[in-house]
Amino acid sequence: MSHRVTLLYGDGIGPEVIDAAVRVIEATGVDITWEAVDAGQVALQKVGVPLPPPVLDSIRRNRVALKGPMMTPIAEGFPSINVALRKELGLYANLRPTKSLPGVPAPARDVDVVVVRENTESLYAGIEHTVSRGVVESVKVITEEASTRIARFAFEYARREGRRKVTAIHKANIMKLSDGLFLDCARRIAREYPEVAYEEKLVDSACMQLVLSPHLFDVLLLENLYGDIVSDLCAGLVGGLGVVPGANLGDEYAVFEAVHGTAPDIAGRNLANPVAAILSGALMLAHLGEPAASRRVVDAVRHVIQSMWTKDLGGTATTAEMRDAIIAQVSALRAPKGE
Ligand code: ATP
Repeated sequence: MSHRVTLLYGDGIGPEVIDAAVRVIEATGVDITWEAVDAGQVALQKVGVPLPPPVLDSIRRNRVALKGPMMTPIAEGFPSINVALRKELGLYANLRPTKSLPGVPAPARDVDVVVVRENTESLYAGIEHTVSRGVVESVKVITEEASTRIARFAFEYARREGRRKVTAIHKANIMKLSDGLFLDCARRIAREYPEVAYEEKLVDSACMQLVLSPHLFDVLLLENLYGDIVSDLCAGLVGGLGVVPGANLGDEYAVFEAVHGTAPDIAGRNLANPVAAILSGALMLAHLGEPAASRRVVDAVRHVIQSMWTKDLGGTATTAEMRDAIIAQVSALRAPKGE
């Protein structure tokens, strides 16, 4: 089967890691036509806006995109492109499967947690104002609709993937109304999934337990801000931002992107770890209905990373060396015709 996918190279290390992901995906032999569109800094320079209409048109047409990180210029009057994309395309769920990779130096072993982060509201609604000189307010918006939707997403994911437990993470002892509503919605949905265990943990204590006993956790359900913070903590447990994939999902569209940002400090220097982008590509292959190819990419990464690390993991391999080793392994694993 052939597929069409919108491709956004992004800023900073984006072009290097997305190029690696595309080449690895192509090595699987899956038939994908890539539709590359300009967004971010490139679009800003060419047409004066970071998210021109053809970007959204293309994703709406193809329904699936692979995206590099994008820089949001601070104080230039543009909203975050990432936030704008999520809003425009209704990408309400951010999924970050975080799994230990064999041989990677990391503070914990055998971690296998999936972060499900609500992507559209909480403090990310961007409602901030000055009350009086020296006093500002930032409004946290939690709605029943978005909380129910993300809770259902987490439980559907758990059911589909055979996961045993969903943990809702909150601070409802302090934010009684907002986090209280989030929990009410999660509890209501949990009752519809008796085969999946449900528990609740305060965000502070969950952070400590994640570090001390990550094996206690399975699927984590969080509102936007806690999800942002806790998913980086989880990434730290398995070796950092360079190895954790992600996806932004809605009812109609799916945008796959690594957890990390543009990393301007190492951009264009052949130093970036392409694994997070490559594993995001594997998530995309599964979403496209190509589970065998997806598995092959994951297996190739797990094989190569045992003996080859980029600088972020303490190694000396370049982005291109890592990419080429993974491509070679995908080709070696590629099944003979007729599979
Ligand atoms: P942004 O402003 O876009 O969020 P950032 O540099 O502030 O970018 P990240 O890119 O998320 O934030 O990551 C912080 C640091 O982690 C980077 O500066 C870089 O040193 C390191 N890092 C992130 N991703 C990678 C990667 N794929 N490979 C190697 N190092 C990485």
